[in-house]
Amino acid sequence: MILPRRLAVGGGLAAVMAARPAAAANRVRLRVLETSDLHMYARDFDYYHDRTDPTVGLSKVAGLIGVARGEARNTLLFDNGDIIQGSPLGDYIARPGGLKDGTTHPFLHAMGALGYDAATLGNHEFNFGLPFLEKSLQRTRFPFVCANIRRAGGRFFLPPSMVLRRTVHAEDGTAHVLRVGVIGFVPPQIMIWDKSKLTGKVTTQDIVATAEAMVPALRKQCDILVALCHAGISAAPRAEGEENAALHLAAVKGIDVILTGHSHRVFPGPDYAGLEGVDAERGTLAGVPAVMPGYWGSHLGVIDLVLEQHGKAWTVADFAVAARPIYRRDGATVVSLAQPDKRIETATEADHAATRAWVGKPVGRIGSRLTSYLALVGDNAVMDLINAAQIAYARPLLANTPHAKLTVLSAAAPFKSGGLAPDNYTDIPAGPVALREAADIYIFPNTLAAVRLNGAGIQEWLERSANVFLQIDPAKREKQPLIDRKAPGYDFDVISGLTWEIDLSQPRRYQGGKLVNPDAHRIRDLRLDGQPLDMARAFIVVTNNYRADGGGGFPGLGGNAVVLRAPDANRDAVLRYFASRPDTPVGSTASWRFAKQAEPLALTFDSAPAAKALLAGRPDIAPDGPVEGGWERFTLTV
Ligand code: MN
Ligand code: MG
Repeated sequence: MILPRRLAVGGGLAAVMAARPAAAANRVRLRVLETSDLHMYARDFDYYHDRTDPTVGLSKVAGLIGVARGEARNTLLFDNGDIIQGSPLGDYIARPGGLKDGTTHPFLHAMGALGYDAATLGNHEFNFGLPFLEKSLQRTRFPFVCANIRRAGGRFFLPPSMVLRRTVHAEDGTAHVLRVGVIGFVPPQIMIWDKSKLTGKVTTQDIVATAEAMVPALRKQCDILVALCHAGISAAPRAEGEENAALHLAAVKGIDVILTGHSHRVFPGPDYAGLEGVDAERGTLAGVPAVMPGYWGSHLGVIDLVLEQHGKAWTVADFAVAARPIYRRDGATVVSLAQPDKRIETATEADHAATRAWVGKPVGRIGSRLTSYLALVGDNAVMDLINAAQIAYARPLLANTPHAKLTVLSAAAPFKSGGLAPDNYTDIPAGPVALREAADIYIFPNTLAAVRLNGAGIQEWLERSANVFLQIDPAKREKQPLIDRKAPGYDFDVISGLTWEIDLSQPRRYQGGKLVNPDAHRIRDLRLDGQPLDMARAFIVVTNNYRADGGGGFPGLGGNAVVLRAPDANRDAVLRYFASRPDTPVGSTASWRFAKQAEPLALTFDSAPAAKALLAGRPDIAPDGPVEGGWERFTLTV
């Protein structure tokens, strides 16, 4: 995947201002600030490794908020959702009894100290269920809006929009009361991703259709309109129910500013360069100023507006957009660019200390080091362990069902396989395993589920998983990149109990969840116990609720395929697996490899520099040296 790029700060608007005439009573400079996808990273701390992490934290981004406010007379601050789930602090608060009745969620309480003007919900707000969410939202010091979730019966789940009245000062000091309209949106896919928690209780509506229905009336009540869109940016054609709808939302007439998120990327920036309708340098979607501030507090979104009043109406005369980072990478060194806000540290001190103690408890023991640095280039012990744990958990639950006689397989993906940052890997030393290390193996709060499908369906599943690899040219002697950095590692499922080869000379059969090359097949030589897999035979595959209910658009999943919905999290299955034996074996079972081509291929991939120490058993992998962003490049010979 592509690194969040550190962008140059400011500059643009200063130039804009210099070219303008003298201070005017009808001209207001308004700075709109955005945080998004904070995911319970309250402080600059990594609970999985029990150490400071200068790349994350509301406390750090709050430092930038202070700076940004100091530079501008009129500011507004919004959060774009994915707040209450993510870091172990989130699990600690969400554990049974963790959130006292009648108290605001501690993270939302801490955010309250920063004077947010409004916020919307992200998809992860629903991971712990509606009762926990509703309890969390009690007595927050800032309002939440969301226009595309309704309760059963039709009432809005939250206020869909609101109009904030804010006194602002024009260039010459004249005060105006500005009416700021705010409307919020969440991906409608929450009905799939948290199906068992939401079915029958709420419904979601299409983002763009909702905006088309609601924006005209809202626009009449306000002077400027800010859309809080917990969705990313895609240039794909408009589709009913689309997930990353920000670009199509921007085209709805009447919206002045779009705050985006969900994709954990940075906009403006090179991640979105070249898309039709997107100016990835200036920061516009369909001409509307827009920003996306990374994730876990990595960036602050800053949109500077020049508003002019002519008659009664205010218009956006000019703007400049930036995503300000809290750190930059200088080779392998991380340089902090923000001072922590002491108010956030004080507000979270007790829960922070309790979470550290909670995740430090030992849960089991492993005989050798367990890492995910090479999880995308061959068999990996982390996925083996998850799969073994999932099967051990699910087998007894399937025993007295009509599926009892079927062979039970299991699917798991390397959640921490680099992706956006070179420190995003699992690396657990041999010896006792603490809860924080076990949690690091399974970072998402998914619940365990199982699906029933036949051998042909399993082959399609693996075809979809193989999307993470680019197509290579078998005739080319030069080095070729192996991994599509835009394909998330969590969609690379490995199914235990089988062996197969992946033929990289073939195009990808699926793109995202869509069948794009019906004649292409990358999965070769798929076997069970050494015998070719019977395409007509039925199997059970243990997985998580996200995948079982259609997350990632895997073919044949969702709907009737689901035969087991466990009450426990996949992570709990991993914890039980550790707890049920004095020593948990670590060692990868043969599962998959790249198919040999006529001539040897040289394929490059990036991992953490620490992966260099793991090459003893891999004569097919050689280090090529460091590359930008703290990564190390390797060449794999196939
Ligand atoms: Mn998120
Ligand atoms: Mg999200």
